[in-house]
Amino acid sequence: MSEEILINVTPQETRVALVENGMLQEVLVERTENRGYVGNIYKGKVVRILPGMEAAFVELGLARTGFLHVSDILSHEQKIANGHDGGVEKRTPHIAELLRPGKDVIVQVVKEPIAAKGARLTTEISVPSRYLVYLPGSSHIGVSQRIREPETRDRLRTLVENAIQEEDMKGGVIIRTMAETAADEEIVAELKYLKRVCSRIKKRMKDPKVTGEVHTELPLTFRVMRDMLPENIEKVRIDSKETFNSAVEFAREFVPELEGKLEYYPGERPIFDLYSIEDEIIKALGSKVPLKSGGYLVIDPTEAMTTIDVNTGGFVGRKNLEETLFKTNMEAAYSIARQLRLRNIGGIIIIDFIDMGDTEHQRQVLRTLENALARDHAKTSVNDMSPLGLVEVTRKRTRESLQQTLCEPCPVCEGRGVLRTARTVCFEIFRELLREVRQFEAKEYMVIASQVVIDMLLDEESSSLADLQEFIGKPIKLQVEPSYHQEQYDVVLL
Ligand SMILES: [Zn+2]
Repeated sequence: MSEEILINVTPQETRVALVENGMLQEVLVERTENRGYVGNIYKGKVVRILPGMEAAFVELGLARTGFLHVSDILSHEQKIANGHDGGVEKRTPHIAELLRPGKDVIVQVVKEPIAAKGARLTTEISVPSRYLVYLPGSSHIGVSQRIREPETRDRLRTLVENAIQEEDMKGGVIIRTMAETAADEEIVAELKYLKRVCSRIKKRMKDPKVTGEVHTELPLTFRVMRDMLPENIEKVRIDSKETFNSAVEFAREFVPELEGKLEYYPGERPIFDLYSIEDEIIKALGSKVPLKSGGYLVIDPTEAMTTIDVNTGGFVGRKNLEETLFKTNMEAAYSIARQLRLRNIGGIIIIDFIDMGDTEHQRQVLRTLENALARDHAKTSVNDMSPLGLVEVTRKRTRESLQQTLCEPCPVCEGRGVLRTARTVCFEIFRELLREVRQFEAKEYMVIASQVVIDMLLDEESSSLADLQEFIGKPIKLQVEPSYHQEQYDVVLL
């Protein structure tokens, strides 16, 4: 399996494509304008204490001050003590006892600033990596609840405890779910990486010349380099000289295995024209996915879940019916696994395979789906086929889907996916005219509508319009409003 990463950089956005054996498997997009602040760490200054709210406003060097509540100042240990100490009730200190205006505080953004609200802050700093979260202000070693096996939990805890001692590090660590299948060396390498990141933050905190931001969550290019397993990747091609140079520096410091695999792409052809990536992205935003032997999928993301319908193409002969259905379902199983990754669909996914009589065929389709999903970086689980032939898949949602990133609900159809026809709108206009005539006196009437509706009123529906005009006894004028969509119109009294 050869994996290649292509990175397209413009001032407006960075896009990353993961290609396996010449086929696009994943797309990640980061827009420069909404890169966000979550995860960033600041050297802040308390500007105001709000005793009533038990909170403080903190100057960060951003457009608005951040908001720090007393409950986000307590350390990890203090919180545990407050929670578990059944005997003596410990008193939560008041904000004024902890902070005063003018004091420097190290804070991290936990919630983006929205509208008039500033960023929500915490003093409990955490720096994530692929397998670990480093908590410089804690001494707690925790293991993700989702790692179930007691032996695995113990092994990982011992590994991290030993590595922390050996590296002479202070602070706590949370071992993330992904560590379950990681090699020991990978986890230790990550701990060393976190140590370097944190010593850099500390240096910047102490430097009196530094104000505001002391640590920025990595931009997309670096996050990808941090999160992908380097041994699987053949090369990383980047079409910006500047980003390439900083990627080389980043690799040298944090992912040395990747340095030799980085390539600057100065090509004549846009980098996303390679492997038809641009076309594949557009296709991944549509609902219909064709299958090789004529069938197709219909993918429908709704708010609660995504449904995927498997269909045979056109007429299916009765002779080899079961074989055809089986073949279509097998193709669908491969295709669905790829589409889930490509579109980054998360949550509950209900797949409606074509009904098959043969239970062995059902088993094979399920197994194919499971195997194809095993290549996914996101965690997935597949449930058995229900009596109605439905298969429920869950996929852990880590980011917005491709559609959520690149699209917005259609303002014309408001998500229905269909529009009332021009003729339906013409008939609505006739009814509206009659309603107006009964209610108000006017010398004449004017219909303002889209080009396509006005065209129909002047052509196919012109005799109906003439009849109506005669019935009303007043002239009806027509006017095109180019900005109106098909369903939009006004009836004006003159
Ligand atoms: Zn629409």
